[in-house]
Amino acid sequence: MANIPSCPPYLTSLLSLFAAHDEAAYPVGGCVRDTLMGIPPHDWDVAVTTPPETTQTICESAGLRVIPTGIKHGTVSVLLPLSGDLADREGPYDLIECTTCRTEGGYTDGRHPDAVTFTGLIEDDLSRRDFTVNAMAFTEDENGLSVLDLFGGQADLRAGVIRAVGDPDTRFAEDTLRLLRGVRFAVKLGFSIEKNTYAAICRHAEGLARVSRERISEEFQKILTSPQPERGISLLTETGLMPYVLPHGISPTGTGDLSSLPADFALRTACLLWEQDDQHSVENLAGLRLSNRVRRDILTITRSAAAEIKATPRYAREWRHRMGELAIPALTVRCARHAEDASEAAKLMTLAEASAARNEPVNMADLAINGADLLAVGFKPGRILQDVFCDLLEAVWDDPSKNSREKLIEIALKRKD
Ligand code: ATP
Ligand code: MG
Repeated sequence: MANIPSCPPYLTSLLSLFAAHDEAAYPVGGCVRDTLMGIPPHDWDVAVTTPPETTQTICESAGLRVIPTGIKHGTVSVLLPLSGDLADREGPYDLIECTTCRTEGGYTDGRHPDAVTFTGLIEDDLSRRDFTVNAMAFTEDENGLSVLDLFGGQADLRAGVIRAVGDPDTRFAEDTLRLLRGVRFAVKLGFSIEKNTYAAICRHAEGLARVSRERISEEFQKILTSPQPERGISLLTETGLMPYVLPHGISPTGTGDLSSLPADFALRTACLLWEQDDQHSVENLAGLRLSNRVRRDILTITRSAAAEIKATPRYAREWRHRMGELAIPALTVRCARHAEDASEAAKLMTLAEASAARNEPVNMADLAINGADLLAVGFKPGRILQDVFCDLLEAVWDDPSKNSREKLIEIALKRKD
């Protein structure tokens, strides 16, 4: 763990700008956590002591471009030049969200605060955050950057612990989505969940029924594509959150080797629902509000579980035809499930990859012949043509070298006789 507060020089220029106005700007939340862990943050969030209108005025007075993205929530997005010259409007920039320090109060719906108060105090802003490791800020003074850590976030980072800020029951009653966020950060960072926080997650599980399906789905996708997906599933099950995520649960035979798969949601979900009753899979997926494409891909893979596969070059071509773009992913999942025929699946995968690399014809559209060619040699339009094409396709699966106009016409004419 790096444990050294640091931020890029272009961001320091923003902190100095606020200091010059006797105000303060603090990098806060995920970027602080990631930096202290030695991981480059994917974005920098900044908490500011000023109300949003003042944030905008200060930034614009220095020549910065700003977008008032969420004035109501105190958020102003600033286009911060990477060159460090605040008035540079030509070069590349980073989009930084500057949000007024605030308290939140009265969560009557278990999800949204009834009141947001801009207090301008960083202490308030850190107190409203969910977990100690997410509730730290960097603060700059004449000695440089240091960590503002009011809740023991650094100790928890070192110990690898997810712990709610303040009383966990209160915090989960305020916002039930935090239950899933707790599991998400535990598996994303490989941390354990502190005992009282864990117990409170279990006590509040039922509250997830009030959280929108979209938010639940978003968190579940992050959990499943984390470095510890199997542990994510165990945590969801043991804490009692699973029924609110996948109402019919997962395959009776367990999760399979999820972490051997790429961090792809469709692939890992197909693995999870492999051999799950099909109707239950359909209903589980409906609850996740996925795009049609992702839902279809998952079901195509799970439904391929019933196929009896054979590791032969011919079957590899047929498989590519049946599964299309999912030919290899479906076999990858079969291997991750350690299915009885997993070693056959691995061999078939090698064959299918080789077939694709050779660009072998596997679909009707790949045939070196079309309807007009057959009509020209005396076939009548109609159903018979379709049957002939099926036969020709089978013939090139048997032997791809047959895919030439003359050879296919020869095969077709033989069939005609
Ligand atoms: P990631 O790298 O996955 O984006 P992150 O820590 O940035 O991690 P976000 O969901 O982007 O996570 O949230 C940013 C910060 O806002 C968190 O670190 C946390 O301090 C705070 N936060 C976000 N959602 C909540 C919430 N529901 N309750 C309390 N604090 C929250
Ligand atoms: Mg974030």
